Amino acid sequence: MATFIPPNERRRQNPHLPLGDHRQAPFYGIDVLTVSQFNREDLDYIFDIAKEMRAMVERVGTFDLLKGKILANLFYEPSTRTSSSFLAAMERLGGSVIPISGVEYSSVAKGESLPDTIRTLECYADVIVLRHPEVGSAALAAKYARKPIINGGDGIGEHPTQALLDLFTIKEELGKVDGLTVTMLGDLKNGRTVHSLSRLLSLFDVRLNYVSPEILRLPPDLVEELSAKNVSQNVYTTLEPVIPETDVLYVTRVQKERFENLDEYEKVKGAFVITPKTLEKAKDAMIVMHPLPRVGEISLELDADPRAAYFRQMEYGLYVRMALLAMVLGKA
Ligand code: ASP
Repeated sequence: MATFIPPNERRRQNPHLPLGDHRQAPFYGIDVLTVSQFNREDLDYIFDIAKEMRAMVERVGTFDLLKGKILANLFYEPSTRTSSSFLAAMERLGGSVIPISGVEYSSVAKGESLPDTIRTLECYADVIVLRHPEVGSAALAAKYARKPIINGGDGIGEHPTQALLDLFTIKEELGKVDGLTVTMLGDLKNGRTVHSLSRLLSLFDVRLNYVSPEILRLPPDLVEELSAKNVSQNVYTTLEPVIPETDVLYVTRVQKERFENLDEYEKVKGAFVITPKTLEKAKDAMIVMHPLPRVGEISLELDADPRAAYFRQMEYGLYVRMALLAMVLGKA
């Protein structure tokens, strides 16, 4: 991973970055590569702006904060929410988007390297959102880029903007983070959203429960990293023992595309299905989250339960991504 470079330092190292009146904006010009680059103060700042974005969207829909700015949305892996919410975010802010999601129709198919593709797109755009199957790809892109890179998911590595929107969802829905018990369920080994969210939650006083089949446990080095930060972590293979104490049930999909052996996938794919019955002993004030897409791990009948927060979670994502774009472009 490239080390995080503070914005002013980044300016000094990259004299080609555009000058402007916005140099003092705290996040101007930075990359968003990992949640580890944020502290609690940063999170408060991001969420305050996200709330302003929500108010503006409700009031006027679209406004001109990023008029004249262009986002390149570069997706080497499938995406519905991340790509379209960044696109919507940019358009709501008055900017425009170069969408590249069919990389098979771009010069990538001719064998162009990631650094060259990035160096190309930054000639046309002011910020780049990158999703790529390799861990560390966003950091690699940032090493070559003069413009901010936002990690939209790097293989099984991280998905920092998802974790930010997940945390925003928790704060907005439950009013706090400290003191909560968060139960993460499903594919904790390959699920990058879980990797980012658990790291982000380590900034708070939370209890983390991990529920998964044996072969899909959280990577041991991540467990160690969180232990070093004194996070209370507990491992289970069934949900029943922890459902009554859970404040946030964070459900994930078994990540089929990460399996080398599809027989292994078949064995674990249906390991957990959350239904209204699963929540019978759960708190009234808990929430169920999912980064989506769901492929059977939450039954459709649960959607009517007010505790099902996964559709609201997507909307929170729009405001958080609007905030991030405005911030890295020096307008917040
Ligand atoms: N959409 C999320 C991601 O890109 C979760 C998932 O695909 O299961 O990581």
